[in-house]
Amino acid sequence: MEVREQLCYSDAYARTVEARIATVDDSGPAPLVVLDRTVFYPGGGGQPADRGLLLRTTDGRSWTVRGARKAGGDIVHELEPSPDGAPSRDDVVTVDLDWARRYALMRTHTALHALCGVVWRDHGALVTGGNMEPGGGRMDFEFERMSGDLVDSIEATVNAELAQKRDVRVAVLPRAEAFAIPDLIRTKVNLLPDAIEEIRTIEIVGLDLQADGGTHVSNTSEVGSIRVTGYESKGRINKRIRLELVEPET
Ligand SMILES: [Zn+2]
Repeated sequence: MEVREQLCYSDAYARTVEARIATVDDSGPAPLVVLDRTVFYPGGGGQPADRGLLLRTTDGRSWTVRGARKAGGDIVHELEPSPDGAPSRDDVVTVDLDWARRYALMRTHTALHALCGVVWRDHGALVTGGNMEPGGGRMDFEFERMSGDLVDSIEATVNAELAQKRDVRVAVLPRAEAFAIPDLIRTKVNLLPDAIEEIRTIEIVGLDLQADGGTHVSNTSEVGSIRVTGYESKGRINKRIRLELVEPET
């Protein structure tokens, strides 16, 4: 099978690439396009899919990419329907991410991992779920003892950890090696299918190491600091913490 490059997993900072259209499905309400290489993240692990543009090299026509998803191993780009029709197979295009949105998602995702790392290290609480938008998100924990005072101290600890300028590293490990790492699977339920042979990990060096498919900044200094905007009980044991990025004064 033709190898299609999915750059988001190896280089989160790749925001544009030249590509050739491999397949076009124009039978539904929105054209669906697979490229021979792409910088789009298809969504997953609580991180929404990217948005952006395809710009055709020959005539400068452009299409808005309003979503993306994984299908059968490929990253499928969903285009905004256009009265002038879809691009064609073998068209050469420039693939361009909505970078401001993606970078905010990278900072938010790394901030949530820092939260996850602190809550695990200091309180032994497992994650049961999470979700994010650019600039803010939430994590759910199995965290019976959570209280307002504790949440204040968690916010301060997360900010102190981010200020340590910790490197954030991506690795891809054989399954057996990955599962030998204690606490790698931080979610309550191991969501990784048995068929997966390689496991991608994200490490905030010195704080957190977990299996993850998302895009992250390369150092916690890029996150800046966070504010906890709320917490709530989703039951006796399950608690939710919401955070947002604190944007520097301009
Ligand atoms: Zn994650």
